[in-house]
Amino acid sequence: MKNIYFIGIGLIGGSLAKDIKQQNPNVVIHGISRKDSTLEEALDLGLIDKKATLDDIVKADLVIVSIPVDATVKLLPAILDKISDNALVIDAGSTKQAICKVVENHPKRRNFLAAHPIAGTEHSGPSAAISGLFEGKTNIICEVEKTAFKLQEKALEIFKSLGMRIRYMNPEAHDKHIAYVSHLSHISSFMLGKTVIEKEKNERDIFDMAGSGFASTVRLAKSSPEMWTPIFKQNKDNVIETLNEYINNLTHFKELMKKDDFEAIYNEMKDTNHIKDILNGIN
Ligand code: NAP
Repeated sequence: MKNIYFIGIGLIGGSLAKDIKQQNPNVVIHGISRKDSTLEEALDLGLIDKKATLDDIVKADLVIVSIPVDATVKLLPAILDKISDNALVIDAGSTKQAICKVVENHPKRRNFLAAHPIAGTEHSGPSAAISGLFEGKTNIICEVEKTAFKLQEKALEIFKSLGMRIRYMNPEAHDKHIAYVSHLSHISSFMLGKTVIEKEKNERDIFDMAGSGFASTVRLAKSSPEMWTPIFKQNKDNVIETLNEYINNLTHFKELMKKDDFEAIYNEMKDTNHIKDILNGIN
């Protein structure tokens, strides 16, 4: 793999580029983005060696697509049209159904591997790229059997070198599960942020009292709407299902409060403390 083209060189693309370059100093990292200013920034930060355009990917050994998922759905067929017969295309999008669907009958489907590295921060753009982001994290691969075996092997080698664990899932299961553990958390954080901001208009001092619990719970509300809106759009049905369940839990909690049933409230929290064991098990 000599020539690697990154389409999107923000948090995910930039972090991948950093680690891949560090481990393979001889590869040439080419960057493609919508805005030239983003590519200049990526060059200044040393994330890419060269600027490129979509027409250049005919020379790619590997193309990594890490742009908002609506842009991926639009661009992916054209990317596969342009690559050479032996090139591998990996996408890192946070939804998988719509992306897999749009290339299901593409003549170069076997050159494509659908992945979702479960790693990230609330920051975006080239300056958000960090080394070691993927170390010890899970990478979900969908429909692996649809990728040519030799290209699967190449992809796995890269993921292994980044320190990632691999899990295989179908796109439907991926989108359903990820709605709970990722998409709902972001909505919950955005709406917590909104609730407090609205209150702050009346009570200016409220942020002086906000402790680290507030900061950590609302952290995800700093995430990019440009990236998240298309995720919610593509995973609408699953996200609505998670929201229904979440709203039911909030309503139930409110009812217990109204009834002064603090024993039940205590028990709700005690039962949910079990999350500690679950998270420790994962770590
Ligand atoms: P990001 O930091 O905002 O970077 C995305 C980059 O894509 C932007 O810098 C933007 O550059 C570029 N871009 C947008 N539309 C484009 C287009 N049509 N053609 C070429 N470039 C385009 O976002 P990210 O966090 O890296 O996310 C990238 C992908 O990874 C998304 O699909 C996301 O779902 C997925 N993902 C994110 C996370 C996470 O936690 N953030 C985790 C796993 C997977 P310009 O300035 O040039 O527009």
